[in-house]
Amino acid sequence: MSHLNRALIAAAGLNVILAGCWAQDVAAPQPSPLAGLDYKDEFFPGAKYDSNVPTPSSVLGFPVGSKPVNKGQIEAVIKAIASKSPRCKLFEYGKTHEGRTLYYLVIGSESNIRRLDSLKADYGKLSDPRKVSKEAGDKLASDLPALAWMAYCIHGDEMSGSDASLAVAHHLAACTDSSVTKMLDDMVVIIDPLMNPDGRDRYLSMLAQNRTIQPSVDDQSLLHNGYWPAGRMNHYLFDMNRDWIFATQPETRGRIVAINQWNPHYFMESHEMGSQDTFLFMPGREALNPNLPENIKKWETRFAADMGAAFDAHGWRYYTGEWNDNWYPGYSSSWAALRGSVENLYEQAAISTDAVRRPEGTLQTYREAVHHQWVASMANLGFLAKNRKEVVADYLKEKRECAGADATIAHRTFAILPSANAARMRQFRDLMAIQGFEVLSAGKAFKASGKDRIGREVKDREMPAGTLLLSARQPLARLLLAMLEFDPRMTPQFLKDERRELLRFGRSLIYDTTGWSLPMLFDVEAFEIAGDVPADADAKAAAAPAAAASAVTNAESTVAFVIDGADDASVSAAGRLMERGVWARVADKPFAFDGREFPRGSVLIARKDNMAFSGDLVAVLKEVCTELKVAATGIKTGLGQGDLPDLGGEHFVLLQPPRIAILGRDPIGPYGYGEAWYFIDHVLGVRATYMEARNLGGADLRRYNVLVIPEGGGSIVKDHIADLKAWASAGGTIIAMGGSAAAFAKDKEGLGDTRLLQDVLPKMDEYRQAIVREWEARQAMPEPDKIWSFSPPESVVYPWMIGEDDKASDDELKRRDAWRELFMPAGALVAGRVDDRSWLTGGLGEYVPVIYSGERVFASPATVQTPIRIGFFTPAPPAPKKEEAKADERPDTKSDKAGDDKADDKSGDKKCEKKDDKKEDKKPAPGWTTAPPGYEMRLRMSGLVWPEAADRLANAAYLTRESVGSGQLILFASNPTFRAAALGTSRVFSNAVILGPGMGASQPIKP
Ligand SMILES: [Zn+2]
Repeated sequence: MSHLNRALIAAAGLNVILAGCWAQDVAAPQPSPLAGLDYKDEFFPGAKYDSNVPTPSSVLGFPVGSKPVNKGQIEAVIKAIASKSPRCKLFEYGKTHEGRTLYYLVIGSESNIRRLDSLKADYGKLSDPRKVSKEAGDKLASDLPALAWMAYCIHGDEMSGSDASLAVAHHLAACTDSSVTKMLDDMVVIIDPLMNPDGRDRYLSMLAQNRTIQPSVDDQSLLHNGYWPAGRMNHYLFDMNRDWIFATQPETRGRIVAINQWNPHYFMESHEMGSQDTFLFMPGREALNPNLPENIKKWETRFAADMGAAFDAHGWRYYTGEWNDNWYPGYSSSWAALRGSVENLYEQAAISTDAVRRPEGTLQTYREAVHHQWVASMANLGFLAKNRKEVVADYLKEKRECAGADATIAHRTFAILPSANAARMRQFRDLMAIQGFEVLSAGKAFKASGKDRIGREVKDREMPAGTLLLSARQPLARLLLAMLEFDPRMTPQFLKDERRELLRFGRSLIYDTTGWSLPMLFDVEAFEIAGDVPADADAKAAAAPAAAASAVTNAESTVAFVIDGADDASVSAAGRLMERGVWARVADKPFAFDGREFPRGSVLIARKDNMAFSGDLVAVLKEVCTELKVAATGIKTGLGQGDLPDLGGEHFVLLQPPRIAILGRDPIGPYGYGEAWYFIDHVLGVRATYMEARNLGGADLRRYNVLVIPEGGGSIVKDHIADLKAWASAGGTIIAMGGSAAAFAKDKEGLGDTRLLQDVLPKMDEYRQAIVREWEARQAMPEPDKIWSFSPPESVVYPWMIGEDDKASDDELKRRDAWRELFMPAGALVAGRVDDRSWLTGGLGEYVPVIYSGERVFASPATVQTPIRIGFFTPAPPAPKKEEAKADERPDTKSDKAGDDKADDKSGDKKCEKKDDKKEDKKPAPGWTTAPPGYEMRLRMSGLVWPEAADRLANAAYLTRESVGSGQLILFASNPTFRAAALGTSRVFSNAVILGPGMGASQPIKP
């Protein structure tokens, strides 16, 4: 029976019952012969095996590597091997969202397997030089077998590695040749055969559905690609090869815990890339994360030489470097290297199944792809065993640089201030714990100097007791630094190369986001302190975060219950209470009842609103609050002291239960969709409808009052703009991100007044005036003398006074903007200044770190609320003494200046500083360009933002809200729920989804 016929039968699930007779029973044509479909090379010719250990082929019923196997088959093979081979032990390490079990298989010599627990403990000692004397450490390094961690297929549609892993597992577990038994004396191997079973099985079901009798070797066919969302990501469409530093997904969490228990010296992960490519392995190329240890770079080069020779022996083509950078620490390979493992990355040309025709006319079969992964794996393991002592000694040396008496790594400490946002702090603490970082807590208030998150120097700043302190001097120092440090820098040479690439080809060398700093993404107030943990902080190991004291206090209260809006979980609580029929309100201003203060955004459950509630209100409150670990405080009076809001006034807005629909599938981008899906379903925990975007036209949208349109839905928005407008006008809340938001911002074809910057360049004065007006509205300091004057003023101050020196033609403005657009970030953290009078920003501080990527920039006029703009204003440092800047000197215009040139900020700061009104010039005070007089703008927080891009982003709208009839349109310039880790902007998204129908839209009272 031909290979394809067999594959077809297997795909139909009939291989057991009908094998051999299928062709007779069903009248189907035979496949046309296609030369080259059979790949005959044996993986390990002549090897001898222990016949007690079943071969993968005997378990599968076909030769291993002849076609991609599914999760169930992988599990069957490793269980069969583990049950019969005394060299193996199988461990479970987690479950996927879809309930599939994750495994790793430990393989070693029989004696090593018998003493596995003590080996594990010794590997732990080797990983923390503080736990063992120098002599004992050196002895361990010399005696211990090296530990390899072989991880296959984190991307579910990159198939060949998992099949190779079965062959590797059997070979190591059963081969009786001395080459293998010797290897196992020197090395313990851990195989994770399949890191993403949900994705792989999803992809295999697509291949099965697109299976044909006639062979297809065209890599553009559905058989070789699947369709939206294909198999790369896990259930909620997360790329788990970006999740290592965030650990939001259960697969990642299980793996990190397991790897931290074992502390491998070598780490490999296998992937696939474009079908017409060859094979790539380490070392990578710049940009490299500056925290990567030196010994890793050395060993990558040595492993590469050996591996190249193994491929050369077969005449196979391969390469290193080229597109493979190691800047972002959330890839498997950089994460593992940063925690000390020599790492390798395999990228095989993807052959999803059967074979693919290549440009030179040959076929590359699936089995050959598996063979490449096999040869790569065995070459690396052999090389590791051979160099065991040196690799392990270098591992120990690296750990000694990080911690213990001989540590050399620079003293640096991260201080995270306590916060009333308990959910946020819990998530931060959880992530630090799962990564294995040591966290201390200040026993008392102390003073420290260093830098804040937007690069401002702080001196002797008071930090309260309870401040979390993370010292870089600990065994996982490099990973900790890579995750937490504020501002890693690329080398000047890389910047030069990148700029040339952008200018010459309009493309970037950067492979992923350039900024990710955890204290920024999580938006926790943090400082980088030079030096070790301050002695006067009286720091001790931080205890686990305490749960809310009691879910409901003052349960007998007759007026209302309040849930503190500082806590992210308060929004979720509001959503979940409304889902159960409880009416809730949200405060749009800070307030105080019974002498206790609450911030804006706090949720209030009034007894009176819930008179008709059929259940036990307190019991439901208790249940929801307990689950979310928040407290509801009963209040006895609704009277706010003085000017503070009272319960019956306008500042406690009644919420409307959200009825949410989210658009998904083509043309919506799977990542943005997955992040919104995960966030609403898994983080907020409220019901929603996940709809096919293309069905929008025919859907009955009246069922919903919130419609989320993730990135990528521009064409859908364009095609249905009239329907969307009618729906919003009737009270709906539209929330759109990135490209979908841009479609609403189109003049004439869109909805609302927000525009893309490039479309309004000739009218920028108008948009800048809106920005100035917003700022003045917050800062206004009227001058009573002038107001009560009986004469009109000699002149009126127009605070903008901009653009008058620079009347560039429209063509010139476009040229300048096109130039700036070339340099837009591939993903960087920028500061967004926050309007504290918007309900959308409840829970935020005065600025929020925003992940910005792509070329889109939004401009909003005064008719549009803009709760978050890019660029945070901070008082400018005092101007240098020498020649006092003249107050009447008008600053240069914005478009002439690159980015953070602060020269103009220092001029004419009299108006805002208000130190001496009487001396103010008679002439109008000069206006501002990027920042008001007396202030400077802080924009870049972390990652690569070219000055041209900073200039373009300064004052751009990140978040806009405008009314559409009885409803509203909310636009995010980029995805707020980035990788489920951008917790600052995620809070804004929660506010929009849960509070939107009540806060920004109006619903009719039912008669
Ligand atoms: Zn991959």
